[in-house]
Amino acid sequence: MNTTHEFFMKRAIEMASKGMNSNAGGPFGAVLVKDGEIIAEGHNQVTSTNDPTAHAEMVVIREACKKLNSFQLTDCILYTSCEPCPMCLGAIYWARPTAVYFACTKEDAKAIDFDDRFIYDELDKNMGDRQMTFIQLLRNEALPVFNGWAEKNDRTEY
Ligand SMILES: [Zn+2]
Repeated sequence: MNTTHEFFMKRAIEMASKGMNSNAGGPFGAVLVKDGEIIAEGHNQVTSTNDPTAHAEMVVIREACKKLNSFQLTDCILYTSCEPCPMCLGAIYWARPTAVYFACTKEDAKAIDFDDRFIYDELDKNMGDRQMTFIQLLRNEALPVFNGWAEKNDRTEY
């Protein structure tokens, strides 16, 4: 079983290398596996697609969900060449795979100037102390939509 995990992780690392060498984006790769088969594989494409969300994990989550025709990655395993950043971590929790295997750590990423540590630090701060400005506006006008959702009887739960 360990050999299998290593096989898929090696593929994720290959994808990282491939993405880097083709100048698609940063040196990050990922693979999504279901029932012992790769259902999606990819690499970072941020700079080549002008998409700041095109991290390797996001790329494979999108592709796998499309293939499975589902918004959940039930019984899937994600292999990523680096510990996920906060954005991908959030996406992973929403997609709900069974497990995540990672190779490099966020400290390794920081050492080559991919520092997502500051986002983790921001999460711990009070909103007013964050580097990004957040301002609440028109809650009373937005709330009726939430109430509409609560009363909607043909909604798809997730
Ligand atoms: Zn990420």
